[in-house]
Amino acid sequence: MSFKEFNFSKEILSQIEVLGFQIPTPIQKMAIPVVMQGRDVMGLAQTGTGKTAAFALPILDKLSSGTRGRIRALIVAPTRELAEQINNAIISMGKKTGLTSIAIYGGVNAHGQVKKLNRGADIVVACPGRLLDHLKTKIINLSHLDILVLDEADHMFDMGFLPDIRKILKFASLRKQTLLFSATMPKDIQKLANEILKNPCHIEIDHKAPIDAIEHALFPVAQHLKTELLFELLKSTDTNSILIFTRTKHRAKALDRKLQQKGYRATSLQGNLSQNRRQEALDGFRKGTFQIMVATDIAARGIDVSLISHVINYDMPDTADAYTHRIGRTGRAERSGDAFSFVTSEDNDTVRLLEKQLGEKIKRRSIEGFNYNAPKKSTDNEQAPRRSFQKRKSFRN
Ligand code: ADP
Ligand code: MG
Repeated sequence: MSFKEFNFSKEILSQIEVLGFQIPTPIQKMAIPVVMQGRDVMGLAQTGTGKTAAFALPILDKLSSGTRGRIRALIVAPTRELAEQINNAIISMGKKTGLTSIAIYGGVNAHGQVKKLNRGADIVVACPGRLLDHLKTKIINLSHLDILVLDEADHMFDMGFLPDIRKILKFASLRKQTLLFSATMPKDIQKLANEILKNPCHIEIDHKAPIDAIEHALFPVAQHLKTELLFELLKSTDTNSILIFTRTKHRAKALDRKLQQKGYRATSLQGNLSQNRRQEALDGFRKGTFQIMVATDIAARGIDVSLISHVINYDMPDTADAYTHRIGRTGRAERSGDAFSFVTSEDNDTVRLLEKQLGEKIKRRSIEGFNYNAPKKSTDNEQAPRRSFQKRKSFRN
């Protein structure tokens, strides 16, 4: 099937061509016609499946007719980077429509955002906190809202945004259509969906197993040898675009520094950085200025860097869902990628549950010649990362 079958306006069709999208991804195939019809949607799909275009294209098409300069579509996303990314995607897809889209989030001076808002926008892409501020002070007015999109709903829930979302929903009560997208479906999201969606069309793209294009491998190793193992692994790996996950901000920063000392062009993305520094890290990684980015989960969720070739879990995540999110950073839009995970004996339970969810055993790999029995030196400061105090229980879905 081609994008022509959706009856998009020629401004949108020609822009899809410019972007090089040839065939719609499964979620696009299923969601676009339903969104065009005006129905609510509950979309369950992994990262990297093309959800942004699945809602952005029909929204742009719909908004092309009608009065300009007042907010008719609102997209709520969990992180600033995601809001920027979605906003940029919308701007590029809608280039020929003349519609205006702006991103609204905290951590930066609100002045510029307010100025842009005052000039009039058709679409707003926002993070919950700053959006709510602007709603309370009436800087943002949603009385002409047609479509509300909640993107990465499970992540917003994880970050504790649910109360804010509920307040935002009150301001958006005049909307005609609601779309909710999530990679996983914990009970609270299901409950929210039941409350806010009217006769929704349920679309589910096989969320059980991460995309086939990805090669998974586990590297069993002792905690204190992880950095050495990483250096060894990098020697035999194409290091153009590697995303490494650590459990904590501190570990991300420390590993970034060690990689730089080894001569790698590395950066890190973690919550302690200012918004400008986060964007710099991300932009530099996208452009290839940095070949390696070390990140924490919160900082990197949903981020689309199309050319990531490897995701390395320096620390294994606590849950299978978190694993799916992380490795969803590679192999995006059917490109192939590798997902390597360093596992210690502490990770045994996680691995077992993950394999159960994937429905297969993940292959174990080791690096020839690496001394897996090297003793811990007194100078080694590599302690086991602190487990998050409350283990998430999301192996269910
Ligand atoms: P998700 O929100 O599901 O995680 P994104 O919307 O960020 O995924 O899309 C992932 C990547 O796939 C982006 O780089 C996007 O430009 C690309 N993409 C989306 N749709 C298509 C398509 N139909 N053909 C080719 N690439 C696509
Ligand atoms: Mg997305």
